[in-house]
Amino acid sequence: MNKHIMELVELSKTDKDIDSYQPQIDGADRKVLRATKRLEDANNELTTLNKLILVNEDQIFSYDEQLKLLKEQLINNSKKTKVINTEKEMKALAIEEDIAKEKMTTANEEIDRLQLINSRKTEELEVVKEDVDNLTKELVKVNDDVSKIKKDIDSSKVVLFNKREKTIREIDQKILSFYEKIRIWAGNTAVVPVRKQACYGCYMKINEKTYSDVIKGDEITTCPHCGRILHIEREDIEEA
Ligand SMILES: [Zn+2]
Repeated sequence: MNKHIMELVELSKTDKDIDSYQPQIDGADRKVLRATKRLEDANNELTTLNKLILVNEDQIFSYDEQLKLLKEQLINNSKKTKVINTEKEMKALAIEEDIAKEKMTTANEEIDRLQLINSRKTEELEVVKEDVDNLTKELVKVNDDVSKIKKDIDSSKVVLFNKREKTIREIDQKILSFYEKIRIWAGNTAVVPVRKQACYGCYMKINEKTYSDVIKGDEITTCPHCGRILHIEREDIEEA
């Protein structure tokens, strides 16, 4: 095989190896995102529960205030009864008292209801607090794991980048730019093998002339269908 073709095959392999880490990096990033999202959701739940409990406490406070006023009213009424002379006044006072008592019943019921809700919500709050703690620890761990994975990938990549640099320095610059142009649209399949007389980039059969050019390997041959650079692997030469 021609030296240029060998260099291109090598370069293409290095590029493929460099890019092969991307799914691992993406997977690690997704793990961080998921853990962050879970913690965020738990924190939002915590905020919602805290707000609800506070709103209920406010309401309980105003019902308590209302109860105090109603009790005062009842005390005043009973004082008034002592100085009342007419039956009409008596009746009016009795109605007032009934209304006040009814309001007190309602206020007490509401206080009971809100206190029950708050005791349930406080239990929920404890569970969510524990979730937040666990999810915070989990996120720290995920971040640690991910930075370790990325560090390993980075050091492997450094080796590959150095290898690429070396190949690029040695390779003919015209051939390199030809390869880079194909790589723009073909990505990591810019250089592909020919197997069973077919291009392994577009999987179409190539004609006899191209096939024999690829086998000879005197110069760089491209696929007549897709334009990718073709090469033949040793075992396929023996077969051909
Ligand atoms: Zn092709």
